[in-house]
Amino acid sequence: MLKRLLNFLSSRPDATPLHTPVIVSRDQHPISRKNISSGALRIMRQLDEAGFPAFLVGGGVRDLLLGGHPKDFDIATSARPEQIKRLFRGARIIGRRFQIVHVRMGREIIEVTTFRGPHDQSVNDDGMLLRDNVYGTVETDAVRRDFTVNALYYTLDGFAIHDYTGGLKDLEKRQLRIIGDPVVRYKEDPVRMLRAVRFAAKLGFTIEDGTAKPIFELAPLLRNIPPARLFEEVLKLFMNGSATATFSLLREYQLLEHLFPATAAALADGDQLGLELIEQTMANTDKRVRAGKPVTPAFIYAALLWPPLQSRLRELSQSHTPLEAHMQATHDVIGAQLDHTALPKRFMMPMREMWDMQERLTQFHRAPRLVERARFRAAYDFLILREASGEHLDGLGNWWTRYQSADEAERERMVLEAQKQKPRAKRRRRSGRSRSKPNPPSTGE
Ligand code: ATP
Ligand code: MG
Repeated sequence: MLKRLLNFLSSRPDATPLHTPVIVSRDQHPISRKNISSGALRIMRQLDEAGFPAFLVGGGVRDLLLGGHPKDFDIATSARPEQIKRLFRGARIIGRRFQIVHVRMGREIIEVTTFRGPHDQSVNDDGMLLRDNVYGTVETDAVRRDFTVNALYYTLDGFAIHDYTGGLKDLEKRQLRIIGDPVVRYKEDPVRMLRAVRFAAKLGFTIEDGTAKPIFELAPLLRNIPPARLFEEVLKLFMNGSATATFSLLREYQLLEHLFPATAAALADGDQLGLELIEQTMANTDKRVRAGKPVTPAFIYAALLWPPLQSRLRELSQSHTPLEAHMQATHDVIGAQLDHTALPKRFMMPMREMWDMQERLTQFHRAPRLVERARFRAAYDFLILREASGEHLDGLGNWWTRYQSADEAERERMVLEAQKQKPRAKRRRRSGRSRSKPNPPSTGE
């Protein structure tokens, strides 16, 4: 089926923006209505019956054409937000900069947007869009989208695909191409640079040269994006099952230094253990996402900020007691990061606790209480990752693994035994502190 689509495309001239689209009819593309959510189809039909043309667009169409299962469906229509709201009982208008409508259909929430128009000249000195609230037609909507493969429109009218920007050819070439002048489009919204990397990682696409090149120079514009929006993007970057590839592309395109500057600096200083820890965390996160298991931003942040935490600890260890150094370093590293990406309290507290517990896990007399703590599992998983990434911790991870499956009597024996050996461990740690990669500081015995 996809072959037929490719043959069809090769016989067509390229679509030019704002001109007649390439229209691919139902027998020439592989999208089957069976794979589209019934809620989205219902909304499109209802909009259409009310006299508003409506299309399926964005990731849903792209992923269906690639043979995947879209995680959600977006609809674009000529109806204005208030008109959409009037048509559907479960509709809620959200967003200020550009209003979108969330329509609830059973357990699904479908995003419905009004066609965007050519924006007025409301850009700031950096070329960033301040407003984006002019409405338009499907033609103007297409060229306001980010990448050509995200601007394919599926219509109920003949079940055809409308391509205004050459997205089908780029899909065939498995490449991401930004629509329009890349520099202008990145300046309008610098988050598009992160989106380029995210889609490249997730889809295994290349980033077309003209789309890739300006990123190196324009990456600093990410500093103008509010930390709360960047936090949302960080979640999408690392929690979609392709965190490993995403992290590597973020480094390659020098975007990491504008999202996690202290992390990028520590890695640039050659912190191999830190790099290994982050990569292990990303690989682990991907495995969990793919297996449908929960993942938390707290864990991802704990790993991403671990290298700068260690580096700050080294700086403070000369002038502070270990406990003070730990508290100060935690405070400094979190404070500096919050200038770039937000981290809501509900994630920050567990992250801090995971860090604090790294040292407590070396205090064996606390084991019976520690193992009962809510964050024990996360802290233990973090410890295992530290060891897996090459940090030498005297078999601490293994000790905790055994402790968890031991019965009461065995646990008591383990603690006594470990305490007898503790002085040795202490000496080893102290001499370790003078090396370039210290263990986390002791928080006092
Ligand atoms: P995902 O699979 O992650 O949902 P998606 O392509 O659907 O991918 P969304 O963030 O859901 O991405 O956005 C839906 C669509 O809206 C995109 O496909 C794109 O056409 C458009 N879009 C989203 N963000 C931007 C942006 N910053 N600039 C231009 N167009 C955008
Ligand atoms: Mg989407």
